[in-house]
Amino acid sequence: MIIQLEEKINKKAKENIFVKINSLGYKTTEVKTHHGNYVVCIGKMEFDIRSIGSLAGVKDVHRVSDSYKLVSRKWKVEQTQIDLGNNVIIGGNDFTIMAGPCSIESEDQVRKIIQHLLSNNIRIMRGGVFKPRSSPYAFRGLGMQGLKMFNRVCRENGIKIITEVMQVSQVHEMYDYIDVYQVGARNSQNFNLLDALGKVDKPVLVKRGMSGTIDELLQSAEYIFSNGNEKLMLCERGIRTYENAYRNTFDLNAISLLKEKTHLPVIADPSHGIGIREHVSRMALASVMTGADGVIYEVHEKPEEAMSDGQQTLNFAESTWLINNLRKTFSLKESISIL
Ligand code: PEP
Ligand code: MN
Repeated sequence: MIIQLEEKINKKAKENIFVKINSLGYKTTEVKTHHGNYVVCIGKMEFDIRSIGSLAGVKDVHRVSDSYKLVSRKWKVEQTQIDLGNNVIIGGNDFTIMAGPCSIESEDQVRKIIQHLLSNNIRIMRGGVFKPRSSPYAFRGLGMQGLKMFNRVCRENGIKIITEVMQVSQVHEMYDYIDVYQVGARNSQNFNLLDALGKVDKPVLVKRGMSGTIDELLQSAEYIFSNGNEKLMLCERGIRTYENAYRNTFDLNAISLLKEKTHLPVIADPSHGIGIREHVSRMALASVMTGADGVIYEVHEKPEEAMSDGQQTLNFAESTWLINNLRKTFSLKESISIL
């Protein structure tokens, strides 16, 4: 059960609510975000929920039987929108496109990609400066110095930044230089990192773990929300299965299901989802029909020279084709209003 408290609730009314819930044998967690003041109540006893709804200081109350609560659609029916400023909104009426290299490599690389994005009216650039790599000998990113350069060039051009945060100490270090934190697949259940991201007021994209279930992804988002940050979005990036003909199995089912289960925006990452350049665009287009609110994909001036993930990275011509067709597909989808 979730209770939303009135903003101006007095101490007495609040105490009264807690006494009532505790008398029902429910465990309570208070959650304060920039948007609301909630009490998440976990327990088994059956009772008439109206006895809570009628208490002074209660703004709203709902039973939520899912393992995740605050991110559930059973709590909030209307879709969450994330406002990055300057009219860049994720989860609104438009389809969001985020693109950029796997890794930030140089100022020249960043400038060329920004020109490509601007010429296609794309406002959000991705690019890692802290790279989780399977091999310790592979390129691991330019770090904070690279992020500062990435930030400077993006700010000059009105571009928003999404980039991966790998550990708790980076949350504050990166704060001033980014617009969205990305939690990578390998950190999807790094609960200390999720706790820390719950304590900052900046949007977070949480990727699904390589072997993470849909329920686990939602509970990871719940960690962040329950620590006080509700500016969240989820990302399907493929899971590891027995199939090894491609890098990952891009789970389109998950996108359709997530849209039913949560009010958070759902983003598709077809680059990591399939891992093969020739197939990325088709999977991206398919994700539109499954209800994704946006895509994030890898693009580079010369994918064959990229320092990471070149095999799944689009060149500028491919990326332009994809952007045009994502927009066409999205308006087609809107026009047929899929049930
Ligand atoms: C990335 O976005 O470059 C990345 C490392 O993604 P993932 O965490 O999905 O593997
Ligand atoms: Mn990558």
